[in-house]
Amino acid sequence: ALTEKLTRLVKEMRGQARITEANVQDMLREVRMALLEADVALPVVRDFIARVKEKALGQEVLGSLKPGQALVGIVNKELAATMGEGVADINLNAQPPAVILMAGLQGAGKTTTTAKLAKHLIEKRKKKVLTVSGDVYRPAAIEQLKTVTKQAGAEWFPSTPDQKPSDIALGALDYAKKHFFDVLLVDTAGRLAIDEVLMQEIKDLHAVLNPVETLFVVDAMQGQDAVNTAKAFKEALPLTGIVLTKLDGDSRGGAALSVRQVTGAPIKFAGVSEKIDGLEVFDAERHAGRILGMGDIVALVEQVTAGVDMEAAQKLAAKVKSGDGFDLNDFLAQLQQMKQMGGLSSLMDKLPAQLTAKAGQVDMDKAERDIRRKEGIICSMTALERRKPELIKATRKKRIAQGAGVQVQEVNRLLNEFEQMQGMMKKMKGGGLMKLMKKMGG
Ligand code: GDP
Ligand code: MG
Repeated sequence: ALTEKLTRLVKEMRGQARITEANVQDMLREVRMALLEADVALPVVRDFIARVKEKALGQEVLGSLKPGQALVGIVNKELAATMGEGVADINLNAQPPAVILMAGLQGAGKTTTTAKLAKHLIEKRKKKVLTVSGDVYRPAAIEQLKTVTKQAGAEWFPSTPDQKPSDIALGALDYAKKHFFDVLLVDTAGRLAIDEVLMQEIKDLHAVLNPVETLFVVDAMQGQDAVNTAKAFKEALPLTGIVLTKLDGDSRGGAALSVRQVTGAPIKFAGVSEKIDGLEVFDAERHAGRILGMGDIVALVEQVTAGVDMEAAQKLAAKVKSGDGFDLNDFLAQLQQMKQMGGLSSLMDKLPAQLTAKAGQVDMDKAERDIRRKEGIICSMTALERRKPELIKATRKKRIAQGAGVQVQEVNRLLNEFEQMQGMMKKMKGGGLMKLMKKMGG
């Protein structure tokens, strides 16, 4: 997570208009620490920091953004760009069956991911999928693939421990051709550590199968060691993609950056649970946030944003947490809080670039006028109406609209929005104030 020190440095750097060698040094040291804490390998961190420094130096700091915030924005953007480059779904551009070879250490999640991918290809790409296990060292591993393949709704091709992996592969390939399968997923033997014999075996498999995808499956919890594993597999095989598993654990997932850098292959998917549907398309922006601790960036921005009524925000959060009714008074308090922060546009200016990319498409002036109008409508309501919005029927609506100088439809719109917000608050149970405000801004 971004440290307290970094927060302090950001504050100290306020009012400087440009990122310079002098003001960036301490900041970069902290960013370096944050990356190391996230388990990004040291050489990868060095490389990355050098790149960021080059990009950042001399950069003008725009608007109300401070150099520290701008730098965090640059770091975040560069992280996302590095990890997101070339990301695409599974490539199936081959004479069917398209073969996908799974590679990685034992326990990385190859067998599980094979089944998850089968399900993904069946459901999202409407493909007919066959799986086969080349893991002849552990009979249980073949059974495991059989079980999870069934869960995925795909077909499993039998193999036995007395067969040679390349014979198994050829048999499965032949069967897949004859039965018009679109995809053949080949699970392979696990390795506890890099082992010459087993490396040769997977190279042979690759030669026999000529796969369109060779996926390197790597455990996100592996941290620093991921670099050496990735190097060894890259030397043995032409990797076409990475699957980062166990992202549901507490690791900050720095392995993603390391493995991406070492192999040059795109990170295609993320494993997010043990279950068969626990596979997601890799989201580089979100992952950059995780590595840096985006929650902390948001907190950071909240702290440096002048004029935030923290007390009111906390009261509101407590209310949501306790599940007390969220009424129109709270809705009004939120609107007013947004104005206190100096308007939406200045709030958005203060957020790191990644966060504002989407918000940038919103017309801020219009959004602010909108807030003022909503405020006007709520102010035309009686105390009772604000507490019990369900009382507001046709006659009351007309009176409120007249009071606020708007059409009745606008009162309806506000009430709808309030209801949506109320539903959201119930789901959120506190903690997501920033998210909420972004939503209101949009
Ligand atoms: P293999 O040896 O590479 O085939 O690894 P397995 O597929 O057998 O997985 C090893 C262990 O990791 C199993 O207990 C899986 O349930 C678990 N696992 C795999 N992927 C994930 C994931 O994305 N999240 C979690 N929490 N567990 C996973
Ligand atoms: Mg396995």
